Amino acid sequence: AISLENLDIAYDGLRVVKGVTFDVAPDESFALVGESGSGKSTVLKALCGLAPEWTGKMEVLGQPGPHRPDRALAQRCQMVFQDPYGSLHPRKTVDTVLSEPLSIHGIGDKDARVQQVLEDVGLDARFRFRYPHQMSGGQRQRVAIARALMLEPEVMLLDEPTSALDVSVQAEILNLLKRLRAERGLTYLMVTHNLPVVSFMCDRMAVMNKGEIVEIAPATALHDGSFSDPYTQKLYAAS
Ligand code: ATP
Ligand code: MG
Repeated sequence: AISLENLDIAYDGLRVVKGVTFDVAPDESFALVGESGSGKSTVLKALCGLAPEWTGKMEVLGQPGPHRPDRALAQRCQMVFQDPYGSLHPRKTVDTVLSEPLSIHGIGDKDARVQQVLEDVGLDARFRFRYPHQMSGGQRQRVAIARALMLEPEVMLLDEPTSALDVSVQAEILNLLKRLRAERGLTYLMVTHNLPVVSFMCDRMAVMNKGEIVEIAPATALHDGSFSDPYTQKLYAAS
């Protein structure tokens, strides 16, 4: 579903992603882990066409690019950004936020779809006309996931979908994502720095350090710490 080959990304001439290569199979749940600043979010953003300078090869759902945000691809591949407070507009209601993707793509019958997706993410109808500041962090994250689901994507890029949340809300959101994947055969590429989350949610993981992938391993390696790279072993020991 996703293929990256020798991806290099620079901001203002400074390379922050270096020779990143990995594939995510259809229906796979793949984790990108690594310390803060290692370039994880930058890789996801690049897949949505939000990286200014890049070289290498990127392919999403068989389409090369994206050199710029591509509308048809955007519909099939959706990103949930790291900070749901930051990514939800403070003066837009949930209804507006969820309806927008449908308007952009010229899809009618917004009402029914908004109601359905709110139900899918476990928010009842009274949330529909709320603003971001009138909801809890977990509820806002559900709205961010709901927005990504509006266009029925095949691939979801999830940037730390639960890291801003307390443990019980974290579990609720992870269970929600797991259920959605089981029901719809979604492919996930998920950024997290939380290894237990990888164990719970993912099939494989790639470990990033200072812009480079140092190891790709099955998530089952987290059962016994059978990693080959010293940096990965250090991360594992610290978890
Ligand atoms: P975290 O776990 O803290 O979210 P990350 O692995 O997601 O970290 P990135 O957000 O990908 O890290 O950032 C990688 C590097 O690129 C950082 O040094 C960051 O300051 C820099 N960077 C990110 N976005 C931009 C930008 N738009 N312009 C300039 N530099 C940026
Ligand atoms: Mg990040």
